[in-house]
Amino acid sequence: MPAVIAENDVSQWADQTGVVYHFPKRYQAILTPGTQVIYYKGKLLDKAFADSRLSPSPHYFGVATIEQVHADEASSKGDLYAILSDYRAFAEPVLAKEGDDYLEVIPDSKASNYWRSGVRPIDGATYQRIVNKARLKPFEVREAEPLPSLDEFESREEGHPSKVYSTRYERDPKLRQQAIAIHGLTCKGCGFNFEKTYGEYAKGIIHIHHIVPLSEYQGSRVVDPEKDLVPLCPNCHSVVHRIKNATLSIEDLCKILRGVKC
Ligand SMILES: [Zn+2]
Ligand SMILES: [Zn+2]
Repeated sequence: MPAVIAENDVSQWADQTGVVYHFPKRYQAILTPGTQVIYYKGKLLDKAFADSRLSPSPHYFGVATIEQVHADEASSKGDLYAILSDYRAFAEPVLAKEGDDYLEVIPDSKASNYWRSGVRPIDGATYQRIVNKARLKPFEVREAEPLPSLDEFESREEGHPSKVYSTRYERDPKLRQQAIAIHGLTCKGCGFNFEKTYGEYAKGIIHIHHIVPLSEYQGSRVVDPEKDLVPLCPNCHSVVHRIKNATLSIEDLCKILRGVKC
């Protein structure tokens, strides 16, 4: 069953439209892999966000598909993350209300508090009604934050340069964003955080390491950003990739760093 998912202008989570959506456990049965979702924004509350949305009124602004759902390990309440794919933005807003009528069908049982739910299951006809009113923009090639140039961190052994890490999974901008949303920007090896040390200017710098050795990779496997990717600082990343085809595990890295918590 499709669903509407509300996006707040201000979010305490590392949500990114069409990429990652954080939600409470009570919506777990609704947001399952394969679910088609329509993004929704409620009424504009803070004028500072007027320019970053399509309309100040409640409206729909894009569609996507839930690809994976992961537990948010930082949550004590069992919150979850959905990883989304196939995001398409609407060129113009589709307003939630036309005249006196809402595009969503509000069940009588929920008449008083329907709009308070951030995640709302809708039937296929409602999904189509909303999408038919939208002009879908083409699939977005997401503008990623600039990747650190991995070549700059090539290891040199006795004068022979060897490219040590530049797998496409580690460079893929969407996987990178998803991994950062899940794991944060702090190195899983040594705990280094660019922003803490260098301040705002360096915020966002981190390497994303793919922990399944590529040699064991059968090509068709889907990369799971929660289990397969970890943030590492350039130093730790160099260490785990020091020997070609013998990438260290994060546990090995922690043993080397003895005493530093992983
Ligand atoms: Zn590190
Ligand atoms: Zn790596």
